[in-house]
Amino acid sequence: MKRCVFVNGPVIVGAGPSGLAAAACLKQKGVPSLVLERSNCIASLWQLKTYDRLHLHLPKQFCELPLMSFPDDFPTYPTKQQFIKYLELYSMTFDIRPVFNQTVVCANYDQNLGLWRVRTETTGMATEYVTRWLIVATGENAEAVVPGIEGMEEFGGSIMHTSLYKSGEIFRGKKVLVVGCGNSGMEVCLDLCNHDANPSLVVRNTVHVLPREMLGKSTFGLSMWLLKWLPIRLVDQFLLITSRLLLGDTARLGLDRPEIGPLQLKNLSGKTPVLDVGTLAKIKSGDIKVCPGIMRLLKHHTVEFMNGQTEEYDAIILATGYKSNVPSWLKEKEMFSEKDGLPKRPFPSGWKGECGLYAVGFTKRGLLGASMDAKKIADDIHQYFQ
Ligand SMILES: Cc1cc2nc3c(=O)[nH]c(=O)nc-3n(C[C@H](O)[C@H](O)[C@H](O)COP(=O)(O)OP(=O)(O)OC[C@H]3O[C@@H](n4cnc5c(N)ncnc54)[C@H](O)[C@@H]3O)c2cc1C
Repeated sequence: MKRCVFVNGPVIVGAGPSGLAAAACLKQKGVPSLVLERSNCIASLWQLKTYDRLHLHLPKQFCELPLMSFPDDFPTYPTKQQFIKYLELYSMTFDIRPVFNQTVVCANYDQNLGLWRVRTETTGMATEYVTRWLIVATGENAEAVVPGIEGMEEFGGSIMHTSLYKSGEIFRGKKVLVVGCGNSGMEVCLDLCNHDANPSLVVRNTVHVLPREMLGKSTFGLSMWLLKWLPIRLVDQFLLITSRLLLGDTARLGLDRPEIGPLQLKNLSGKTPVLDVGTLAKIKSGDIKVCPGIMRLLKHHTVEFMNGQTEEYDAIILATGYKSNVPSWLKEKEMFSEKDGLPKRPFPSGWKGECGLYAVGFTKRGLLGASMDAKKIADDIHQYFQ
């Protein structure tokens, strides 16, 4: 079965925070849109692929979507459930009704028509949506990155990506190896400790760990404020000195810092510093052990590390991140890089491509970046919409 639908307004692919923000900003300007979502709910990353204890990593004022604040009674760092509640209220307020279970498998620009053809597939039915404007909102975290580790098939214990991890409850009393020391890996280790599991953390690369708060303010907010007055190099120095005073020398715990400061590194590579929510104290107390990179996995739950040592674990949790899936479905080679699926033009210019193509939420600046994109896109499309 095949059907073709002409959409009067932009098609937005993805009903995460970015897609919802774009739809709301368009609606406010009187521009209708159609949101296509592969999953059966809004914000599927938050609803289906995150752990129970997750809170927003940044204070709420940096995570609001355009046109609607968080409820006053929300704490500074809302829980994942509160954030989902906010997004549901947001969708209701702006009457955004995504079409669910619509995985976009192909989108290409038809030169003859001057329109985008966006194809979705669901069981037994293919639909082609035809539109003048295509807004990509599938996110930087669309697919889990699962590294190939030698011996994965032989290791007898369970191996799961953090996108499937809910809580440490099922690991109570177990020895668990967490691979990856970003925000998720660090927090999963803490959660495992809180559920009386016995976690170890694989740290292969250098990492900046900063306190979530300094001098009574959020580290993120303070950094943003300081950047208004000081060059990034000086702000980085301030962050490193204060972190050293508050957290001590992280290198002594096996967490070497990169040579470049945290904010400069974020700008250059997009790598986010870890905001500590208590994991470091558990590393200091020996409740979490830090291990070098994995060489290979062996039979009988054994892991061999780069330093030649071996140890047995009941389970491995891969906190190895996510990637964009845009190259798998968007048949356009100019705007997005084939390599990482992100816009080729750096922030703040990556939101607009050619022929009515837009990107929202690919700035490596979280929800704040998505909100900025959404407003610019709505302003731009509004000029041409009749
Ligand atoms: C654990 C965790 C904690 C985070 N905490 C914060 C935080 O505190 N603050 C912050 O600013 N950011 C945070 N982030 C970053 C966060 O991912 C983004 O801020 C936010 O979710 C991005 O929204 P998005 O809509 O761009 O992408 P997503 O939330 O990933 O939404 C994309 C949507 O597109 C859908 N989709 C994908 N491919 C297709 C397709 N082919 N067809 C149809 N639909 C498709 C997906 O199902 C999904 O619903 C966190 C991320 C993680 C993983």
